[in-house]
Amino acid sequence: MTFEDSLEWARAQDAADELAALRAEFLFPDSGPLYFAGHSLGLQPRRAREYVLQELDDWRRLGVEGHFSARNPWVSYHELLTGATARLVGALPHEVVVMNTLSVNLHLLMVSFYRPRRGKHRLLIEQGAFPSDRYAVASQARFHGFPDGVLESEDPLRTLRERDDIALALIGNVNYLTGRAYDMSALVRAAHEKGALIGFDLAHGAGNLSLTLHEDGADFAAWCNYKYLNAGPGGLGGVFVHERHADTALPRFEGWWGHDKVRRFEMGPRFSPIRGAEAWQLSNPPILQLAALRASMELFDRAGMPALRRKGDRLTAYLELLLRQRGAEILTPPERGSMLTVRFRQPGMLAELKKRGALVDLRPPDIVRITAAPLYNSFEDVQRLCALIGELDDG
Ligand SMILES: *Cc1c(COP(=O)(O)O)cnc(C)c1O
Repeated sequence: MTFEDSLEWARAQDAADELAALRAEFLFPDSGPLYFAGHSLGLQPRRAREYVLQELDDWRRLGVEGHFSARNPWVSYHELLTGATARLVGALPHEVVVMNTLSVNLHLLMVSFYRPRRGKHRLLIEQGAFPSDRYAVASQARFHGFPDGVLESEDPLRTLRERDDIALALIGNVNYLTGRAYDMSALVRAAHEKGALIGFDLAHGAGNLSLTLHEDGADFAAWCNYKYLNAGPGGLGGVFVHERHADTALPRFEGWWGHDKVRRFEMGPRFSPIRGAEAWQLSNPPILQLAALRASMELFDRAGMPALRRKGDRLTAYLELLLRQRGAEILTPPERGSMLTVRFRQPGMLAELKKRGALVDLRPPDIVRITAAPLYNSFEDVQRLCALIGELDDG
């Protein structure tokens, strides 16, 4: 890849970009177009409002009848997201479901997949995992009577190959702070060779990397949809359960929404699960949140993850080059998605950057996370951000 540090060159790239039209499908915040925090909270898709208003409207018009008579009946509304979600993460449709939020889902999945016994009781997590994930695994290990059950590793692949006492690995792929992506299929093979199960936290992977969860053979995965996937604050999470677990007698916390759909409203006393990931659902989901997510998933489906990743790789390489030329230190390794973790010579200038309308993500004291999201960021955005950084660094 060859790049030029000029606005003309950046604009020429945008003019030739077949995904450029997607930018117009998003509403940029009042601070302006220099939005580089899509790894934290994605922008609002233009159609989110329309889809949410439609459900508010149907609720007003129909009351309880909306469950079956709304334009998109609420009883099956979550199914509108199944196809796009499966394509997004490389799964079969019955391997995915949108439900709850991420930390909740991690717990529900660990109820099924973390089955420690003496001698094989460890719960492996990558070093520097997101705090909520660490709290979740620590409390699960304690709950099962293994207060020292959690193992943190800087090199989860090596640890999986070396040890025999791991019951479950839960790996954040991509790491939320460094932006480092792990080789998922290698991790899965290493875990399974040792008789361990493995799940992934894809909070920074879903909508960022091109994933092949089914083929890689991950036992399960969970992610939030409000970062790269633009579901809005507190948006619903996604879950993947590999089909090899669809018919097994895994323990599971159960609720009526996981019950066989044909018989759900007979309200019978015995739980009969839906086949696949939907069996893990407990409650009827918040329709307004599903509606907002639907607007974004349509755009991911239109673009396709492989094309988004191809653009993302070029955009991120351009960002990396321009940042390096302005003296920034790039902490993210080459195995990555769209987020770069960066240290500047003068972290003090970041406050000024914000005043001038550029939204990046400061992690005190001096780490900055910057994401050029291929769905709505442009080469011109990157060029303008780095021009601003250059000015402030000189001044
Ligand atoms: C963002 C993020 C979370 C947030 O969890 P919620 O339950 O959605 O609040 C958890 N884990 C990781 C790795 C994250 O990046």
